[in-house]
Amino acid sequence: MLLTVLGCSGSVPGPGAPASGYLLEAEGFLLGIELGNGTFSELQSRRDPFELDALLFSHLHADHCSDFSALSVYRRYHPRPTIDPRANKLPVHAPAEAPTRFSAQYGTDAADRAVTDLSDVFDFQALQVGKFQIGPFEVVAAAAAHPCESFSFRISHGGRSFAYTGDTDVYDGLSDLARGVDVFMAEASWTHGGAVIPDLHMSGREAGEVAADAGVGRLLLTHIPPWTDTAAVLAEARAAFRGDVVLVRQGASYEV
Ligand SMILES: [Zn+2]
Ligand SMILES: [Zn+2]
Repeated sequence: MLLTVLGCSGSVPGPGAPASGYLLEAEGFLLGIELGNGTFSELQSRRDPFELDALLFSHLHADHCSDFSALSVYRRYHPRPTIDPRANKLPVHAPAEAPTRFSAQYGTDAADRAVTDLSDVFDFQALQVGKFQIGPFEVVAAAAAHPCESFSFRISHGGRSFAYTGDTDVYDGLSDLARGVDVFMAEASWTHGGAVIPDLHMSGREAGEVAADAGVGRLLLTHIPPWTDTAAVLAEARAAFRGDVVLVRQGASYEV
């Protein structure tokens, strides 16, 4: 599997830095994970957006899905699409509210369904805790600790494994989900020990502690907001986890 970072700024985009968005590829299958603010621009600079084979959203906070509206316009109104987007609806694995939340960006009048019903180019599939398949990827979803319906994922393919926390505080079961994965991408939104809000995010230290507890191969830190000291987050994660720890970089790719 190859993971590419479209954006990794936490909670909001930073200067020249899109919010959360990733691509995961295997066997020529292109899975988009999150499409936060600014990521559709990054996607277009690398790929034809019609190459996406499926989308996966951990939750529906704007920093993870706001550019879905851009993709909607692109798929519905591009005058020269490279595929027929209506004959090839894009599977969208997302929390159950996604169709109504995304369509509300175009209006809330039920009589205006021709404009607001996005099922002409998307096939929405409501996420549930448990195991399912997306193309060649075996996905396990777990319920995360965040203020809305949110999921963490373990994704396996060809004997390799990847886990992504989504946005979450530490919760019972997170280490089990990530147990022994080759690559663990964890959010780390703040440094440890501040006046933190429970059930919202993890610190760098907590991301490192979960990585150590789960016995992962490599820890990738992401979702660090522009106002957080990234060097401090990295240092405390490295103090908690003795394996390889890196801050993901926008535009970089990582072998899983
Ligand atoms: Zn977020
Ligand atoms: Zn969030």
